[in-house]
Amino acid sequence: MKKALSVLLCVSLLFSLSSLAFAQAEKESPVLFVAGMNTCDLIYLDDGTKAFPPTSDRIKDSIVSAIIPLLVNGILMRSWDGAAKALCKAANGIFEPCKMKPNTTSLYNVGAELPDRYTTSAERYENGEEYFFTYDWRFSPLDTADILNDYINGILENTGCEKIRIYSHSMGSCVLLSYLEKYGHDKVEKLLFTDSAFQGMDFVGELFSGKVYVNPESLTNYVCDLVYGTDYAWVGGLMKFLKATYFTDGVCKLFNDVLVKNMIDTICVEMRDFVFMLPGIWSFCPAKDYAACRKFVFGDTPAEEYRILVEKNDYYINNVQSKIKDILDSAMADGVSVSILAAYDRQGIPIVSSSTNQSDGMVDVKHASIGATAAPLGKTLGDNYKQIVTACGHNHLSADLVIDASTCMYPEYTWFIRGVLHHIFGADIDAFCDWILNYDGQPTIFDNPQYPQFLTYDRDTEKVTILGTAS
Ligand SMILES: [Zn+2]
Repeated sequence: MKKALSVLLCVSLLFSLSSLAFAQAEKESPVLFVAGMNTCDLIYLDDGTKAFPPTSDRIKDSIVSAIIPLLVNGILMRSWDGAAKALCKAANGIFEPCKMKPNTTSLYNVGAELPDRYTTSAERYENGEEYFFTYDWRFSPLDTADILNDYINGILENTGCEKIRIYSHSMGSCVLLSYLEKYGHDKVEKLLFTDSAFQGMDFVGELFSGKVYVNPESLTNYVCDLVYGTDYAWVGGLMKFLKATYFTDGVCKLFNDVLVKNMIDTICVEMRDFVFMLPGIWSFCPAKDYAACRKFVFGDTPAEEYRILVEKNDYYINNVQSKIKDILDSAMADGVSVSILAAYDRQGIPIVSSSTNQSDGMVDVKHASIGATAAPLGKTLGDNYKQIVTACGHNHLSADLVIDASTCMYPEYTWFIRGVLHHIFGADIDAFCDWILNYDGQPTIFDNPQYPQFLTYDRDTEKVTILGTAS
């Protein structure tokens, strides 16, 4: 009898242990969203007052203080130098609180105001909510990655989970990639990168090498896009009229040939202490442009005072941005799933020649997708275009003939949405992200008839559907 009891005890103990083990294996990993740039305010840490985005009073005061010097220098004295300095004074006034020292620390005691949802508590997990990571966008993604590492460790500790599913947006992908480079992927189950600037933006590559160019067509598109569906929609009509009558072309030519040519050097010198001191923005410089930008800003041999900044920028470009394939291949080899989502067919900021690139209005689609071949905005690759890489035997050419995804780093794991703007998510895009993050294993563009490689977004209904033929 005793023997029978002990056997029974052993068996029941084994059962309870195995059910425990089973329960742990079934426990879903938490989901973390690494947000993009400027997703929390910057505050003065001493008293909690807002430092950035600037208050309307600060913007107004800065502009007002620049108007008279601008008019006097530009019109009366015909001094381009003086006019450029007046413009920069206004801009510097607006951005003053964001300035950083060349040693990559904040000039003033300014830092991120972390929102309530920035928490690692288990409660969020138990409520089925995502975790939310935001940060001070001025800093190097390499430094922010250290904070992200602590945040991930906190979540795993509090929830008792071993792995985490992470998706990122825009600059968040630079931070996430830096985290993977520094801390590895052992704690990661899934990765989804959306509208990622992890290969930079041509926009920054041009501006950081002193190239400014206003394209009249891009300017027209940009304004039309901005006022679409608002009370100012008539401005779009006016812009189209001005473009059709070559007025915009004339104004842009004047701006490019006279103003830009005469003012750009002064502007670069005057803005140096602000914009070029931000390692976060340097992470947006595409590797292909980096050497030229570095030389333009710091010369052949950067001065000692910029050593820390330049070292961080160099490290990010050489070991993170240029090593995406190594970082992601190694994660995938260990069973981490990797998915990429990139948007296109929106007009980018029209002050650089690359504003004709296909983008989501901010990040070039070729960079967000790691290597897609795209027609210029408003054009197609042509009716006779042939997909560049054919080895896999799939069709990777979009039905609108704008994107050839065969040249992507991961053509089977990369999706595209036509017509959606950089910062837009919405219910349908959330549902797509949920599908990716909940998929058992590595999702591909063939796994769900609802989500083939190419999708399209309707800005009126906010619906995402399968991309049909050219529209
Ligand atoms: Zn393929």
